[in-house]
Amino acid sequence: MTANDLSEIVKIIRGAKNILIATHTFPDGDALGSQLGLGHILRDMGKQVVLYSEEKISYLYDFLPCCAELVNVLPEPAAIDCAIALDCGDRFRLGDAADKLLQIKPFVVIDHHAGHKNFGDLRWIETGRASSGDMVYELSEHLGAEVSYEAAYCLYAAIVSDTGSFKYASTTPETFRIAEALLSKGVNPEEVAGKLFDNFTESRLLLLQSVLSSLELYSDNRVAIISATKKMFESTGANQADTETFINYPRSIASVLVAALIKETDGAIGVSMRSKGTDYDVSAVARKFNGGGHRNAAGCKFRNGETLEEVKNIIFAELLLLVENS
Ligand code: 5GP
Ligand code: MN
Repeated sequence: MTANDLSEIVKIIRGAKNILIATHTFPDGDALGSQLGLGHILRDMGKQVVLYSEEKISYLYDFLPCCAELVNVLPEPAAIDCAIALDCGDRFRLGDAADKLLQIKPFVVIDHHAGHKNFGDLRWIETGRASSGDMVYELSEHLGAEVSYEAAYCLYAAIVSDTGSFKYASTTPETFRIAEALLSKGVNPEEVAGKLFDNFTESRLLLLQSVLSSLELYSDNRVAIISATKKMFESTGANQADTETFINYPRSIASVLVAALIKETDGAIGVSMRSKGTDYDVSAVARKFNGGGHRNAAGCKFRNGETLEEVKNIIFAELLLLVENS
């Protein structure tokens, strides 16, 4: 079920003075770029904006303009006229404060995740869309709002992140129309790409070396799995956030149709999955384990004491079914 209350959302934003913007936990480039981009746009409209994030953001994204203004303290719901959740496919991904956040009325949800589970009061959901960042740009057009250089920078970074640099199937002529409009605000694509991709620390590169050496290929090299163990984090001095984009390496093998990264974290084993083309829906696998995402990029977490090895076997069996039954 999706819904489109866009015109109603535009009216509500126009009438609101104090607006809170949230996104999903462990925010990625699209989540943060959308959140900060919309923050800039609404502030330039004269709104008071609270940029809410439960955890400290990954150092990989601290180049985004105004990320220092993210706060992890929730205001009283009554003090806020409207909340907007961006890039969040279900209410649980809002984090520990989900119930309190949802007390803010009206609660607006703007999202593009396949398998989006409706929550909040008003929704604009487009599951085929390349990124939340380009939806925020379209929202600014409906609002007749100015998009500053800073806002454009954040939204462009969001789009580049979620389209794999305009490579994924979700990239459309509309994505490029919006990217063009953002670049015309003076954003330098080389600078954004450099910040997003050429950002390794030495320990992150050493972690990549260890993680790549765990590569396992199955089913005529159509299924690839890599693992990041606690030991690897300890021996390289890298942290959880450092695995971002590692999944692209097994995906880059020509014969690979589906790939997974299994990650040992405190209290959970995390799974990131990727697939190519339209035949293999990894979000369906993620949903089996209470996760979610998109057809070609999805994830889930195992929190019941499973070992990395056990999770690997479970995911391997699922991915095998996917490629052998399609
Ligand atoms: P990534 O593999 O980059 O962490 O995530 C890929 C996609 O899957 C993203 O769109 C992300 O929002 C979604 N995703 C990743 N982990 C989870 C999860 O634990 N639950 C849900 N619902 N979605 C997830
Ligand atoms: Mn997104």
